[in-house]
Parts: sequence; C-alpha cells; structure tokens
Amino acid sequence: MAGKSEAAAPKAATDILFCSFCGKSKDAVKTLIAGPTVFICNECVAVCTKFISGEASPEQTDWDKCSDEFLLEQLPRTSAIADAAGDHLASHVATLRKREVTWEAIGRALGISRQAAWERFS
Ligand SMILES: [Zn+2]
Repeated sequence: MAGKSEAAAPKAATDILFCSFCGKSKDAVKTLIAGPTVFICNECVAVCTKFISGEASPEQTDWDKCSDEFLLEQLPRTSAIADAAGDHLASHVATLRKREVTWEAIGRALGISRQAAWERFS
C-alpha cells in the first residue's frame, strides 16, 4: 500500500482520530464513525446498543475519581475534540456567510450580538 513504508512524521493531537467516547485511536478499533465534531467506534456502538436495549446502564466518567496520570493522558484527546468542534463551528458560520446570511442573524442564532459574532468569526 502506498505510503505504508514511509516514516510517519509525528502527528499533532488534532491529526489523530479518536473515538470521542472511549478515547481509542482509529487504529485501535475496527471501525470509527464520524459525526459533525465527534467520532464513535464500533465497540462504543455495541455498548450503546446494550444501553438502548436496557441490558446495561450508562456511566459518566467522574473526573474527581480519576488519577492525575489518567487525566493528563486524556487531556490531548479532550483538547483535540474541542479544537475539532471549534473548526466545525467556524466552517458552519463560513457556510452561512457565503450565503450572505447577516452577522445579525448569526449572532441572534447564537444568542450573542452582531458585533460579537463578527469579532468571533470574521
Ligand atoms: Zn469508542
């Protein structure tokens, strides 16, 4: 396969695709499904299916119970997700601007002023 034998340059956290739910990279799972700003792997889909069918109850990570090492390990992934969400938002606004939707309408949709929308996205 082309490019497989080339030495890969170190990737920035934002260049690596992770499951937004379990944090596994795309190479660690069979399938990674992309949403607008998030990804979910086949393993998390299987867990979700159990939740939906009532076989299991969802648990939310309690950050206060996690070790410093775990929190530091997760930090690049969380940052990458935030960056991706910011990029998606900017692209969304750019699409509206290409259609000549006003800053006033964009600001109104976001619950901010026209000026604040312009300052944030222009
Ligand atoms: Zn996952």
